[in-house]
Amino acid sequence: MIVAANFKTNLTRIETGEYLGELESLVGKIEENVQVRIFPATSSLIAHRGEAVVGTQNAYPAQSGAFTGEIGVVHLEEFGIKSILVGHSERRHIMHESQVDIAKKFDFFKERGFEIIYCIGEPLRTKEQGLEATLEYLDAQFEGIDLEYGRLIVAYEPVWAIGSGLTPTLEEIESVHKALKTRFSAPLLYGGSVKVSNAREIMELPSVDGVLVGSGALRVEDFFTMIQTAREIENQN
Ligand code: PEP
Repeated sequence: MIVAANFKTNLTRIETGEYLGELESLVGKIEENVQVRIFPATSSLIAHRGEAVVGTQNAYPAQSGAFTGEIGVVHLEEFGIKSILVGHSERRHIMHESQVDIAKKFDFFKERGFEIIYCIGEPLRTKEQGLEATLEYLDAQFEGIDLEYGRLIVAYEPVWAIGSGLTPTLEEIESVHKALKTRFSAPLLYGGSVKVSNAREIMELPSVDGVLVGSGALRVEDFFTMIQTAREIENQN
């Protein structure tokens, strides 16, 4: 099970350091079957050794160069970061990253051996058209993406569920995940308004290999509770 936290544009460097310190002391040693990832804001990236692996929410697909406002691989290397989110809906819809940009970024970080959490998700108008339309939309987000990549993790995050407090029904998650799992063998996370109160039922779904949590992870106690839940589920299996 993979339990990942996306801090988005929250938590300063100092707060991130405190969070990680507290999280490590709460979790102790993590069994191999639960993996923890933390994605802080860019200016809060930290060289961290521990059970939680720190990754980046974004980076420009370049070693370094004339890309004002961006960071490149050299900046990630400084902190030993080898994990990245690609295709997050906020980057697709707010920063207007196109599928072509996203595929280029994916390839660039794949060639450098990064773990890639590749995010996909449909808007509400597509969800309302049913499963077939949803899958067609999601398939278009796989254009140019190597689904065979060994360090790939996919996160299904319906756009309308992100930060809204709304989640699909468990049946809806299960049917989308089941269909997606016929397309690749990479672990498949669910993301979108996961919180302590719904994390267990979501993680217990057979087709869910973990969760990507945004605002629900900002309190370290809550994120720790979700890690504990993942451990319990793994121990039952
Ligand atoms: C996310 O940003 O990846 C996310 C799932 O956000 P939230 O949990 O806040 O909906």
